[in-house]
Amino acid sequence: MYRKPGDHAGRNGLSRWLTTVRPEVAQSKPSQLLAVAVFSFVFLWMPDIDLVFLEILHHRSALTHSLIPVAILSWFLREWGPGIGTGALLGTSIHLSADLVTPSMVGFAQVWLPEPWQISLGSCSYVWLFANAFAGFAAASIYARRSFGAKWSLPVVFACAILAGSLYGWINEQSVVSVLVIWLMAILALWPERRWANRA
Ligand SMILES: [Zn+2]
Repeated sequence: MYRKPGDHAGRNGLSRWLTTVRPEVAQSKPSQLLAVAVFSFVFLWMPDIDLVFLEILHHRSALTHSLIPVAILSWFLREWGPGIGTGALLGTSIHLSADLVTPSMVGFAQVWLPEPWQISLGSCSYVWLFANAFAGFAAASIYARRSFGAKWSLPVVFACAILAGSLYGWINEQSVVSVLVIWLMAILALWPERRWANRA
């Protein structure tokens, strides 16, 4: 097959982009920061995707109101760096913290196991939401060390948690109590991380 002289160089350019340049761009600090911002925003609403699958998932499904979707996404998109997982952990944790603000844990406020069980966790739903939100915030800061180093992971994660959490609590939940609970959860989970930031 006849090739023009430029074709070969073009192919090399593309493969170089895919194997060298693209990972470098994806792993750069600005790209990782963008990934944290975008995925924390998207995952603010991810847990309520159970409303689309009500046939098999009750609302406030234990599957979507957990860190399982984040783990799956982070695994499949791992070559794009830890920013995606960090953002997804933050968004999910903010949503679950806001879900803790429930006057009474009945009906759709409870966390439900999927088919074939379809049973609610009852008042243990508080424990479920708290544990997943707490673990999500803490894991976000630990995971973000790979993108931003020990010194900057805590400030980046904390700033995103407060900013996205305030927006979500204020605009989506329209509740000052939700904003305060999100802040409290972020502070509680991220407090031990300050030692790492000081050590760096
Ligand atoms: Zn929810």
